[in-house]
Amino acid sequence: MTYLIQGETGVWEAVIGLEVHAQIQSRAKLFSGAATDFGAEPNTQVSLVDAAMPGMLPVINGFCVEQAVRTGLALKAKINLTSVFERKNYFYPDLPPGYQISQYQQPLFGEGTMFLDMPGGATRAIGIERLHMEQDAGKSLHDQDPGRTFVDLNRAGVALMEIVSKPDLRGPEEAGAYLRKLRSLLRYLGTCDGNMEQGSMRCDVNVSVRPEGEDGYRTRTEVKNVNSVRFVMQAIDFEARRQVEVYEDGGEVAQETLLFDPAIGETRTMRLKEQAHDYRYFPDPDLLPLVLTQAYVDNIADSLPELPDQKKARFADVYGLNPDDAGVLTADRGTADYFEDAARGRDAKQAANWVITNLFGALNKRGLGIAESPVSAANMGALLDLMGDGTISGRIAKDVFEEMMETGREAGSIVAEKGLRQITDKSEIEAAVDAVIAANPDQARDVRDGKEKTIGWFVGRVMKATGGKANPKMVNEMLRRKLSG
Ligand code: MN
Repeated sequence: MTYLIQGETGVWEAVIGLEVHAQIQSRAKLFSGAATDFGAEPNTQVSLVDAAMPGMLPVINGFCVEQAVRTGLALKAKINLTSVFERKNYFYPDLPPGYQISQYQQPLFGEGTMFLDMPGGATRAIGIERLHMEQDAGKSLHDQDPGRTFVDLNRAGVALMEIVSKPDLRGPEEAGAYLRKLRSLLRYLGTCDGNMEQGSMRCDVNVSVRPEGEDGYRTRTEVKNVNSVRFVMQAIDFEARRQVEVYEDGGEVAQETLLFDPAIGETRTMRLKEQAHDYRYFPDPDLLPLVLTQAYVDNIADSLPELPDQKKARFADVYGLNPDDAGVLTADRGTADYFEDAARGRDAKQAANWVITNLFGALNKRGLGIAESPVSAANMGALLDLMGDGTISGRIAKDVFEEMMETGREAGSIVAEKGLRQITDKSEIEAAVDAVIAANPDQARDVRDGKEKTIGWFVGRVMKATGGKANPKMVNEMLRRKLSG
């Protein structure tokens, strides 16, 4: 995944750090009981706390804390049993109190690690800088009326985890792999739905460049609120190349905050970068420090599900899959479960092949996810059984599978109804073989003269003559016997 930029003066590398805002999966907000459903009518999920009515006090939602702890532990991050909520002060119409409750000096989690899956089964460790909790702001709606801006406070106060990586990523591909892995992890945990289009996972991208081999970091820019993996990758590529050009023209990169415009694939200046002290952080006097006991944390650690890395290792170990296949099958929990249900007690490598090649192909073509698959895992298993015991050939199985995708029916009834059972009766196959040889004397002579390749042509002919139902192995053996010498 090496990403290097060939400039006019030399070769440059990109240094990337990502800050992900992940909306905590919870029915209520971080400091109020208001609901969090996506797509609700504007301002129908706003409590007096969210609207910052005078005298209202925030009360922390224990479930949100639990979700954040679960996430930090899965990132192998160092927990701070005491963390502190602070006010991050700024003015914006969609922020009624004039500050965001966040964590600054003492976040819930410090350093951690996440492993990227690289091609060929290798992994690469990416450092996590911190994970803290904070609340979301409301939304300003500029596109409802030409002359006015509206404010929707449904999102105000929704719980977020901000997950900050170290500047360990070296280009668009790695950044994309990081986001996909993080999303997979969050979905396994059930702590964030990872839905970037709906804004429940948003990414700020820090980009700088340096000549290959240079130590230390140069000035970085920050691209705000990018909402898809593809756009993150595009923004990095554009921004890194822009910075290389600035340096090669003898200029300096300015520390600034940028916006990415997906329509043109370019970044543009939003504002010159503010400094942390501009926000006048201070501990929120309405909230006590968040103090957790080790027993509480241990309890959550014990309840974590099997996570993607563990599952991948187990799939390679127990099912004998190569690391790439194991990675593909475990990236999503639903896919992993589907595979295990279909593979149980069967040839696991064959099951993996069918899921990855045939099932994924058919689902992609129809724009369906694994949860919507017309072919259930049990039905996939039954199809594998029909191949395994020789009832149908692999070629026929593909047709049967297509029919299963179309109708949702099970393999056995399709095979019975269409008479697709494999022909393994010797005399029946022999009759077909003899007929094809008799009809093609010239080609038969070629084989006898040593043209090996023509055997394959004969196999194809016999298979066609039997509607693809003859056992290909028997056909092959019989042809070789009859055409030798
Ligand atoms: Mn933040």
